[in-house]
This record gives sequence, C-alpha cells and structure tokens, in this order.
Amino acid sequence: MSSVVADGGRVGDPQVRNRGTIGGSVAHADPSADYPAALQALEAKFVLKGAKSERTVAAEDFFLDTFMTALEPGEIVREVIVPIEEPGTGTHYEKWCRRRAGSRWSASLCGFQKSGGKIEWARVGVTGLSNHAYRATGVEKALEGTAGSATDVQKAAREVAMGVDANSDLHASAEYRKHLAVIHTARALMLTLSRTA
Ligand SMILES: Cc1cc2nc3c(=O)[nH]c(=O)nc-3n(C[C@H](O)[C@H](O)[C@H](O)COP(=O)(O)OP(=O)(O)OC[C@H]3O[C@@H](n4cnc5c(N)ncnc54)[C@H](O)[C@@H]3O)c2cc1C
Repeated sequence: MSSVVADGGRVGDPQVRNRGTIGGSVAHADPSADYPAALQALEAKFVLKGAKSERTVAAEDFFLDTFMTALEPGEIVREVIVPIEEPGTGTHYEKWCRRRAGSRWSASLCGFQKSGGKIEWARVGVTGLSNHAYRATGVEKALEGTAGSATDVQKAAREVAMGVDANSDLHASAEYRKHLAVIHTARALMLTLSRTA
C-alpha cells in the first residue's frame, strides 16, 4: 500500500498502531478514520463471513453512514483484499490533524493515478468530511484524460465536496471542512502525480 502505509506513523499512537486492526477500524466505521478512505481509493474488497455464509463487498459499498456498514448481524470482516498496484501507479495519502495524534479530527484524502502522458484513471478516497468515507468520483472524472497540469488539478479538486453534506461540530464548521478538503485534495493529487513513473 506504498505511501498509505508509509504514512501509518500518523495513525493514532504506537499503542493504537500495534494493537488496532484494519478489520476493527473498518467495522467501526468512524467517519474520520483513515483506512476507509485509503481502502476505497485502492479499490479494496472485504470478505464478510457469517456462520453459514460468505460474501465479498467492495470497500466503496461497505460504508453506509456514521458507524454503520454493510455488515449484517453475525458477520465479521474476515479478510481485506487490496489489489497489487500496477506499474506506473502513483499513490499518496494526505492527512491533516489540527490537534495531536488521536484527536479524531482529520481531513484525510488519497489520490491515485496512472499516466502515459495523460491520466488514464484516478481514484480518490475522502474521510473526515461527512458521515462516512467516500470515493470522490467527481474529482476522478474531472482528472481523467487530462495531462494533470496544476490547472487540471485545481479544477478537479474543486469537485471533492460538491453535493456533500459536510459534518459541522466543535472542531470545524462544514464550510471550513469543505475548504480544507479542496486544498488537501489538490495537494494529494499533485504529490501523487510527482510519484507517478
Ligand atoms: C487514541 C486513539 C487514536 C486513534 N487514532 C486514529 C487515527 O489517527 N486514525 C484512524 O484511522 N484511527 C484511529 N484510531 C482508531 C483505531 O484505528 C481503531 O480503534 C482500531 O483500528 C480498531 O481496531 P480494533 O482491532 O482495536 O477494533 P475494536 O476496537 O476491538 O473493535 C471496533 C468495533 O468493531 C468490531 N470489530 C472488530 N473487529 C472486527 C471484525 N474483524 N469484523 C467485524 N467487527 C469487528 C468490534 O466488535 C467493535 O464493535 C484511534 C484510536 C484511539 C484509541
């Protein structure tokens, strides 16, 4: 998971990183958790196991609402499957925490793309903005087929919070979260581009 894991030092503290599991994080579905956005951008799949059943759900379809997932009663997340990155793929995870690690307020994003002169595809996952992590398909579509210039990136990043019902709480207003989301999406995309072979 390249830079997603490389940035793992910014998830919680050493105790959380050593004892917390990815399965526990996704099942909990905290709207500010890091893994849900990263796993959606990576197009991961979750194997959900019940006593007499097993099914596979795309990460994109798993997160339904705040602390709500596609898990049915009696099911557990048995496996998290992350596809191997193709050559020419760049990744970056951009995280912003206002307070110390563990503050639980972050505007976190990932940008992934592949280019051969032009961006063939882009995958962007967003967390910390609304009731659950999501794929920013508006950003992805705006970027695909472009050369990924600074102007292309800025234009695409503006799509990240379009139509999103952003959270507003004691840490940040909805308006401020959306403002940050655009900035951090643009930053994540620029860094991703710089990492693409
Ligand atoms: C101080 C602190 C700082 C943190 N900072 C961050 C951060 O910066 N970024 C971030 O993303 N997260 C952060 N976290 C959250 C942390 O990542 C999660 O608490 C951890 O990953 C949960 O994993 P766990 O195995 O301990 O799950 P648990 O806490 O044991 O379980 C969470 C919930 O999921 C259920 N569950 C657990 N495993 C499964 C499974 N396999 N299938 C179905 N249900 C399951 C449990 O029954 C429970 O309801 C922080 C947590 C703390 C305490």
